[in-house]
Amino acid sequence: MFLRNLKCKLFFISVLFYTIAINAQSGINANTFYKHDKYLSADKMEGRFPGTKGNNDAAAYIKRHFKKYGLKKFGKSYYQSFTLLVKEGINKVKSDSVATQNVVGYIEGSDEKLKKEFIVIGAHYDHWGWGGKGSGSKKKEVEAIHNGADDNASGVSALLCILEELSKMSLKPKRSIIFISFSGEEEGLLGSKYFVSHLPVEKDAVKVMLNMDMVGRLNQEKQLYMGGAGTFPNGVALMKKLGEGSDLNPVVHAGEVGGSDHVSFYKSSIAAVGFHTGGHPEYHTPEDDSDLINTQGGALVAQYIYNVLIAIANNPQQLNFIIQD
Ligand SMILES: [Zn+2]
Repeated sequence: MFLRNLKCKLFFISVLFYTIAINAQSGINANTFYKHDKYLSADKMEGRFPGTKGNNDAAAYIKRHFKKYGLKKFGKSYYQSFTLLVKEGINKVKSDSVATQNVVGYIEGSDEKLKKEFIVIGAHYDHWGWGGKGSGSKKKEVEAIHNGADDNASGVSALLCILEELSKMSLKPKRSIIFISFSGEEEGLLGSKYFVSHLPVEKDAVKVMLNMDMVGRLNQEKQLYMGGAGTFPNGVALMKKLGEGSDLNPVVHAGEVGGSDHVSFYKSSIAAVGFHTGGHPEYHTPEDDSDLINTQGGALVAQYIYNVLIAIANNPQQLNFIIQD
């Protein structure tokens, strides 16, 4: 197209700059998503098994970002420590009782009244270490690092991308938001169970939990699956509505809550939604690596869940718990 006059040219130049500004602003992007995923699923993390250096190093990485993006601590530390039992010898663990930690922080809400209520968003960071006998590996006969790039470095990547984006908001959402990364998920949702039975706030104040576990392998149909969308009022409609224009195809289930840490909340009568992008042949094998991650897809998912989080945290309605079959 030939631009006939200066006015016209100026208009197009300003549109161009506006577009650049918008793109620069929308910070959830594939590069950052990949950066976190690659770091957490690198061989040096040795599969992030509870009680190992790799698990502690992953927690330290998450803690650093919680601090950098301005999360407040409950008490003195971002760590909520707990112990779990692992058979001695598995994953070179030296004792049957090993110490690990959830990483937790929060953003205070901006509304005088609603800030007393909390939305929790979380993703587990632990995985199967070197796998082998006694682990949940699908290839127990080989001892090799299970990097867990999808399970669940991807969920933690999304969590950190969402937090970074939220840190840029000058007016925070109305309700307070707890960010948490769980350990001990693979051994039976142990970190989330511990958190739910040692909540840093009143249980009644915790309104909705959003959990991300395996969100890094978005398929060609761009299906983002979710269970538990009907555990709070109008949840299913909200999830569908936010799918419009998201470049995703949300597959929304009112119930079907099972699968990951959000179940610990649901069982304690707290509304809970679990998000994932589906299974694959590398699930719980040493081949779950970062080069198979759909980084554009991960960024799209993180953006969608960010929108979900903001919408719920600002929702003027009461967020009562609804039991699903
Ligand atoms: Zn797993």
